[in-house]
Amino acid sequence: MTLDQQSTGRLTRMDALQNQAMAQAQVRRRAAERQRIHAALKRIEEGDYGYCTDCGEEIAPARLKADPAIPRCRECMA
Ligand SMILES: [Zn+2]
Repeated sequence: MTLDQQSTGRLTRMDALQNQAMAQAQVRRRAAERQRIHAALKRIEEGDYGYCTDCGEEIAPARLKADPAIPRCRECMA
């Protein structure tokens, strides 16, 4: 019974650590997404929106429709 309680305690701590790691990953993902959107808005302001940030080619409308904040064309993203 004592052993069971100990292993349960370990599992709970591991769950807590895992949840914390997942929460941190989500915060990072959200920050990255905000950064992406911010960069896209800046490109709109500067008139560069819709053009690849690497090669300057026009990004296919279908790509922009699927992901309006996408920064690069298919070739440069690959
Ligand atoms: Zn490109």
